Amino acid sequence: MVNKRQVKAVLDQNKCISCGVCGAIASDVFVFDDTTGKYKVQNPYGQWIKVDEQVYQKLKMAEQACPVRCIAIDEKI
Ligand code: SF4
Repeated sequence: MVNKRQVKAVLDQNKCISCGVCGAIASDVFVFDDTTGKYKVQNPYGQWIKVDEQVYQKLKMAEQACPVRCIAIDEKI
């Protein structure tokens, strides 16, 4: 049985510079927000959800790749 991780993605739009890196890494999670001109977290990823290891690694990659460090991937252990 494959373990799933319980995670939530948080993105601080006040810091986002709309570079698009996060969207390039995980286009189903980080999307352009027309109303603010910044990126945002697409639900259900903005709420606590269980994801497999592959998705988790993608989220962590986006968190680390953001040039202004405004993405946080919270995890319930
Ligand atoms: S990588 Fe960071 S700065 Fe760039 S669009 Fe995503 S959240 Fe915004």
